[in-house]
Amino acid sequence: MTSVSIIAIALLTAAATMSGGWMALSLGARRNLVLGFSAGAVIGVAFFDLLPEAQQLSGGLALSAAGVGFVLYLLFDRVLARHDNCEADMRRGFLGAASFSTHSLLDGLGIGLAFQAGHGAGVAVAAAVLAHDFADGLNTVNVVSRNGGSRRHALRWLVVDAFAPLAGAILSLFVSLAPEKLGVILGLFAGFFLYIGGADLLPESQRAGPRLPTAIATLLGALFLYGVARLAMP
Ligand SMILES: [Zn+2]
Repeated sequence: MTSVSIIAIALLTAAATMSGGWMALSLGARRNLVLGFSAGAVIGVAFFDLLPEAQQLSGGLALSAAGVGFVLYLLFDRVLARHDNCEADMRRGFLGAASFSTHSLLDGLGIGLAFQAGHGAGVAVAAAVLAHDFADGLNTVNVVSRNGGSRRHALRWLVVDAFAPLAGAILSLFVSLAPEKLGVILGLFAGFFLYIGGADLLPESQRAGPRLPTAIATLLGALFLYGVARLAMP
């Protein structure tokens, strides 16, 4: 696999992320449904994509890493939310968006490193990333706007998140990372995502609109991720 093809895949992931974010920005009136879907998608990424992959790479350590990630995110979130005002809220939104963007950087890094390991592994990881990147964009926009960030803030973070895989792919041309270490990092992010989905997006979606349609949207979000994770499996 040439580095040019890896960069091309990273650009495709940017397009997928942008379209997810754009969808979140344009469905403003159905906020509860978009938030609900997003909550299911974030939790789905953790359970159906990140955790199985992390476990494959580093075994039981992946689950412990997820536990540590969950608690770490909780602590960050509590420190940021100490003051009860809009600014503190916005900082929480930015923490969420920064987590999604760092995760996307790792997505790109993962694609590059997987291709280093072999063509088959590379294609599998690239498919998994491409399939869930729509949700990455949607979730980034939602975590910013849900915490009082403006449309412009959301767009800016969307662009950061969309191009983060490109930075990660370029980085992969210069570094190598032991698979077990990558697995631990993926586990950590699974913990972050479980917190963002369960403690932030899920309750907010229920507050934003009728319970039953919102719950159905959440189930659809989780199912969507389950589907794409299964499709992307080698
Ligand atoms: Zn991702």
